[in-house]
Amino acid sequence: MADKLPTRSDDFSSWYTQVILRSELADYAPVRGCMVVRPYGTALWENVQQALDRRFKATGHQNALFPLFIPMSFLEKEKSHVEGFSPELAVVTHGGGEKLEEPLVVRPTSETVIGHMYSQWIRSWRDLPVLINQWGSVVRWEMRTKLFLRTAEFWWQEGHTAHATYEEAQEETLKMLDVYTDFAVSEAAIPVIPGRKSESEKFAGADASYSIEAMMGDKKALQAGTSHNLGQNFARAFDIKYLDTNNELQYCWTTSWGLSTRMVGAIIMAHGDDQGLKLPPQLAPIQVVIVPIWKNDEEKSKVMEVTERVSAMLGQSIRWKVDTRDEVTPGFKFNDWELRGVPLRIEIGPKDVYKHQVVLARRDKLGREGKSFVSQDGLLDQVREMLDTIQAELHQQALKFRQDNTHYPKTADEFKSVVQDSFAVALWCGQRECEAKIKEDTKATSRCIPMEQEESHGECVYCGEPATRQAVFARAY
Ligand SMILES: [Zn+2]
Repeated sequence: MADKLPTRSDDFSSWYTQVILRSELADYAPVRGCMVVRPYGTALWENVQQALDRRFKATGHQNALFPLFIPMSFLEKEKSHVEGFSPELAVVTHGGGEKLEEPLVVRPTSETVIGHMYSQWIRSWRDLPVLINQWGSVVRWEMRTKLFLRTAEFWWQEGHTAHATYEEAQEETLKMLDVYTDFAVSEAAIPVIPGRKSESEKFAGADASYSIEAMMGDKKALQAGTSHNLGQNFARAFDIKYLDTNNELQYCWTTSWGLSTRMVGAIIMAHGDDQGLKLPPQLAPIQVVIVPIWKNDEEKSKVMEVTERVSAMLGQSIRWKVDTRDEVTPGFKFNDWELRGVPLRIEIGPKDVYKHQVVLARRDKLGREGKSFVSQDGLLDQVREMLDTIQAELHQQALKFRQDNTHYPKTADEFKSVVQDSFAVALWCGQRECEAKIKEDTKATSRCIPMEQEESHGECVYCGEPATRQAVFARAY
């Protein structure tokens, strides 16, 4: 085995990168800032995709595929959109050996090209709403990159919808925020705070942006999904109109919402420990690893017989794998699967064969505490129950960590000190200048203005201006 992992408390950033490289989730690509998602990471992402896709379809959305290239002029049609994205565009100027008449942008997001198509597809109120999602990758030229969190190309889904009224668009925006919240909590076991973004943090071209915000293991915040009410901004820029029931032409109201491979980074940082990944059973590519243990051929044949019976028992309903490697010791295998975050390990040795039992070892509780001896009879139910328990406890643990590291400062001085190393929740005026000052003084930004909050009136914790809403501030990824 290579050197020990850096510990999280010594160097969280290098722990994060080393866990990804050693567990073979991803690797660096030859082009600076790009990443290769390896099979193990892709299997994890596919489970994220499936869990989300089920929810999208259940809420009436369909998938479609739009092109990678967008005419440069499209981006220029929406003023704040182009301002927001132009610094990070990758532009294609040549094709087939010739200079192109108009440069093409490699999509940084697809509002413009999808808006263009919607303007052709939508004619009357009968065509609405249009509810489409796309799975794909986008490119934003980032200079400072980090695997899964910020790479030049990343994978995601982007939903794009068009509606007849503002109310319907707003309902959709919040519905998808709820879908993301439900996914994060019940699949990724990550507690999140759904809320509205401040003016300076909102999406380029949106009327209002919403996000789910999560606390990572180093107490920094990570925006794990966003949902935008685009108002009529893109409808006006791209001429997306419909004839209403009075036969009058109206502009549509559109939304967009996205969740990306950043979520994989969130899963790593919210749950991982000094031994490596700790994957939530719902999303783990391998939920159970079976390690047979023997010393000689006679033991081997007995142990393997039980191993086969056990794996047949787990059948199709559990994602399991048997580690039959001969060239490494059981101890090596334990460490290896702990690094890769497999939630549950089943050990089967000669003694277990004799006692008609197996050993269950939990990834989230290492050592004696997480070990139990269970009968081979009824094992499937035991395993299912154990995986459910692990899933629930991962969420509880992450929630407790966030609660223990959330403070409610009452003065600017107190705010400055707690926001360095925790979430600071406080009354805030919501003004751009105030936020800019906070960022300059503390490097923290407003993460969101939580949807759920009590009525309150008072003074902004930082500038003293009147404030009616609480906001969450933190240093963020
Ligand atoms: Zn203020």
